[in-house]
Amino acid sequence: MTHLAPTIGNASVYSPLVSDGYESTAPPTSQVALFNPTTPTQPLTDGFSRRLTYLRLSITDFCNFRCEYCLPNGYQGKRPDDELSVPEIATLIRGFAQVGTKKVRITGGEPSIRRDVVEIIDTIKQTPGIETVAMTSNGYKLGKHLASWQAAGLNQLNISIDSFDADIFHKMTGFNTLPQLLADMDTLLDTTDIKLKINSVLMAETAFENLISAIDYVKDRPVTYRFIEFMQTSDNSDLFFAQHAQSDIIVDYLLAHGWQPHVRGSTDGPAIEYSHPDHMGRIGMIAPYAAHFCDSCNRLRVSSQGKVHLCLFDQGNYDIRQYLQHDDVPGLVDTLHSFMPIKPEHHHLHESNSGIMHNLSIIGG
Ligand code: SF4
Repeated sequence: MTHLAPTIGNASVYSPLVSDGYESTAPPTSQVALFNPTTPTQPLTDGFSRRLTYLRLSITDFCNFRCEYCLPNGYQGKRPDDELSVPEIATLIRGFAQVGTKKVRITGGEPSIRRDVVEIIDTIKQTPGIETVAMTSNGYKLGKHLASWQAAGLNQLNISIDSFDADIFHKMTGFNTLPQLLADMDTLLDTTDIKLKINSVLMAETAFENLISAIDYVKDRPVTYRFIEFMQTSDNSDLFFAQHAQSDIIVDYLLAHGWQPHVRGSTDGPAIEYSHPDHMGRIGMIAPYAAHFCDSCNRLRVSSQGKVHLCLFDQGNYDIRQYLQHDDVPGLVDTLHSFMPIKPEHHHLHESNSGIMHNLSIIGG
């Protein structure tokens, strides 16, 4: 196992441990030695001049759904009992805010299964410098949580809906909850100012039917429905080859029917969104296999055990928990800067290499 141990000024010597038996993508020694630490308030900018303003924070690996492309057999094993605590998350977010993070997305697993999720939203929201708190959820019992999430300051919510057909939704997730979820989403739109998006994995079998349903859904609702191109991981190869469809099938239809693409903002995700004068909402496409998809990467990920993933599909991850446990924001800031020369330029999905990402539930995609 390779340990990378750059010395950063007077700050702590960092020795990231790479989990899951994979080797770290260590930078050339000369690159590390030449790296000049920056002041703590300098924004994170990686070796490809990309500003990293967006943090995706997983707060649990556990998910109660059994989506076939992600956890077809449900969550295996016992839920870890060492998920990041609220004080650790507070330190983490203060450190990221100091290096220019403006948007934090809470992910999982399914984040709403944590009893302290409201406290987590509130903690992130109260951190100076953080402008947007977003969360991705499967929407299970959304109605029960909505008021408290809104009160804690949640700005954006992404809900996963892979079919508008209740029976197919039941079959895909293991839960017969689509009618209630749709009603809860309408309550969200009617009673809160939380910005709502819907995520759907693009599958060949259901793509066209979903597109027509989504276009109908967003006609009178200010919601973006986003297709995410199915990504191959080591756990889903059979399904990938059976169901992978290219984003063109959606984009070509949209362009042929009067939908227009929009320019992305600096803290936006990688979706290209399309609007139509007759529709309140938008249709989005996230196409990780498209050329130049990673050129505008603006994100880092942190797992629910306090490991930094420099790329969703990197070969390793880097343990920063010691800084969180000791409320060491300066140490964390210096360490985040030390990662910048080794953040990968892009993924290697085209070579069927998803790194340590065996399935996307690990860190929320
Ligand atoms: S695959 Fe990696 S480099 Fe590409 S956008 Fe995602 S995190 Fe960034």
